[in-house]
Amino acid sequence: MTPIYDLHSHSTASDGALSPTELVQRAHGQGVTHLALTDHDTTAGLAEARQCADTLGLQLISGIELSASWEKKCFHIVGLGIDPAYPPLAEASKNLQNTRMQRAEIIAEKLEKKRIFGALDAVKLAAGDGMITRSHFANFLVSQNHVSSHQDAFDKYLAKGKPAYCATEWADMELAVNWIVQSGGVAVLAHPLRYQLTATWIRKLLNAFKGFGGAAIEVVTGHYNPDEIRRVADFATRHQLAGSAGSDFHTPNNQWVELGKLAALPNNVQPVWELLH
Ligand code: AMP
Ligand code: MN
Ligand code: MN
Ligand code: MN
Repeated sequence: MTPIYDLHSHSTASDGALSPTELVQRAHGQGVTHLALTDHDTTAGLAEARQCADTLGLQLISGIELSASWEKKCFHIVGLGIDPAYPPLAEASKNLQNTRMQRAEIIAEKLEKKRIFGALDAVKLAAGDGMITRSHFANFLVSQNHVSSHQDAFDKYLAKGKPAYCATEWADMELAVNWIVQSGGVAVLAHPLRYQLTATWIRKLLNAFKGFGGAAIEVVTGHYNPDEIRRVADFATRHQLAGSAGSDFHTPNNQWVELGKLAALPNNVQPVWELLH
């Protein structure tokens, strides 16, 4: 059987709509043979996902998507093949959960200044034991008819420069990469075109990331077109980084991104799964 990899996905442990079990079942149904669950700053969904993956014969790769700060900007570092029990990683996750809670309180206060009330209780309820993300705020704003769509919520309130944006200090990128590597995993820079960097800054970022011990970048995501894939493949080969492929699946409602429905990794890029053991 040809393996089908999807190495970036979310569950209800962060801002995904499906429980870990439902996510694994859906991935299996879409033909995915190797799935990484990579929730924002948490590994809490992995145990349940593994139980389901084992019964279906799907290979689950333990993952996380760490929010990391570098040069005062936020970057997402996916860890693949990590050990969730590695104490510094578990500790980091606890700290990031606190960071996210404090940020949620500030976002809610900023929304109150815009006469939007009840956000904090709503996002706490929706997130449950999971990580509170801006996606939860976006869902709340849609549900209360303050905005017309999830994207509209970011464009009007939640994105950088908008009234409810809260600048946040995340995990230091060097530390984040180290936790992943020290726990036995491979560090992957997620969605490199999302950060709106100039060519010079991309070069600086990739040099720094590689210097910290980063080994791969996401060359194929659910959002990239062939031209974008070629651009990122070019970054990978120039910097001798492996390439990853992941849908960044969050919800079945978004018809654009489905689990496992990814373009092939270009031939000149080393697949990140060759680095996983
Ligand atoms: P955060 O809580 O800041 O980590 O944001 C969590 C999620 O919000 C991201 O994983 C995306 O799913 C979503 N998101 C962030 N920025 C945007 C944006 N500008 N437009 C739409 N969705 C976004
Ligand atoms: Mn997300
Ligand atoms: Mn991300
Ligand atoms: Mn993601």
